[in-house]
Amino acid sequence: MRILIVEDEVRLAEALAQIMAEQKYQVDQVHNGADGLDYALTAQYDVIVLDVMLPKLDGLEVARRLRSAHVSTPILMLTAHDEISDKVKGLDCGADDYMTKPFDTSELLARVRALTRRQGEVVSEELAFGDLSLHLSSHCLRRGDKSVRLGFKEFEVLRLLLQNAKLVTPKDDIIAKVWGLDSEAEDNNVEVYISFLRKKLSFLASQVSIGTVRKVGYFLTTSDEPGSFGGGGMP
Ligand code: CA
Repeated sequence: MRILIVEDEVRLAEALAQIMAEQKYQVDQVHNGADGLDYALTAQYDVIVLDVMLPKLDGLEVARRLRSAHVSTPILMLTAHDEISDKVKGLDCGADDYMTKPFDTSELLARVRALTRRQGEVVSEELAFGDLSLHLSSHCLRRGDKSVRLGFKEFEVLRLLLQNAKLVTPKDDIIAKVWGLDSEAEDNNVEVYISFLRKKLSFLASQVSIGTVRKVGYFLTTSDEPGSFGGGGMP
């Protein structure tokens, strides 16, 4: 589970990040609305904790822009006062839930858990392509009656490729979405995980393979149709 915290009170943001890290969430924190919007549009999060009063772009505007860009990540809005109007505005802008400051951290964690469950109900449990299906909560990749469980990064990389189906997924996108914008990850990391995934596809004897477009990215293809991107794909 990956969480974005958008909160300009740095001490509060850090305290929240620490509490969530203890719960094994992967956390990114940013301290203004413009960065919050950038991060939320670029990386994939399971929940966004979004303050309303923020410099550069307020939380209501961030939520509105995310929803108009079709980002459906659940948003938990933090309001400074117990003002009904703020709550109503937040929900109108696309927030899924809100909490009034000051709040109890155990309640915050409970709400985050509830939001991730709610998302799980809406989103389909599997992504499929060709003869493959990837189960999103068990991380099992299946072909016929054979299956393998993917490691966390393998799963994230393959999930991106599956979401893009036959389109080329740029390497830079994979790095930003799987390793994060601030990471030191390089092209090599992506290549390593692509090669792990290719080994698993061949173990499953799947018709699906991962094609390469040199210096650009990767795409999925099935062996019953020739790869249309012409770039050194691997069986
Ligand atoms: Ca604030």
